[in-house]
Amino acid sequence: MPQDERLARFPVSCPTCRKEVLAEYRQADVIGALVNDRPIQLYAPCCDVSWTASYIEMQQIRAHFGAVRLDAPSRAQPIKPRETTDD
Ligand SMILES: [Zn+2]
Repeated sequence: MPQDERLARFPVSCPTCRKEVLAEYRQADVIGALVNDRPIQLYAPCCDVSWTASYIEMQQIRAHFGAVRLDAPSRAQPIKPRETTDD
């Protein structure tokens, strides 16, 4: 499986039966959507229903991916607070 075909799994609430289902997405698609602030198309296999992620769902997905690198390694450095040296 090539690297950009890696799958991301995270739970979503099915809008039809309200069950929490673990759905699989192409990681590149999800990260691309998060980085570019594009809507993510979610899918619940239990009811074979797809929908566009709401703002809250986007936040949840973003939080889920918070532990995962979103950017290229060269840009993944933590942002440090600027220190004032002249006082
Ligand atoms: Zn369902």
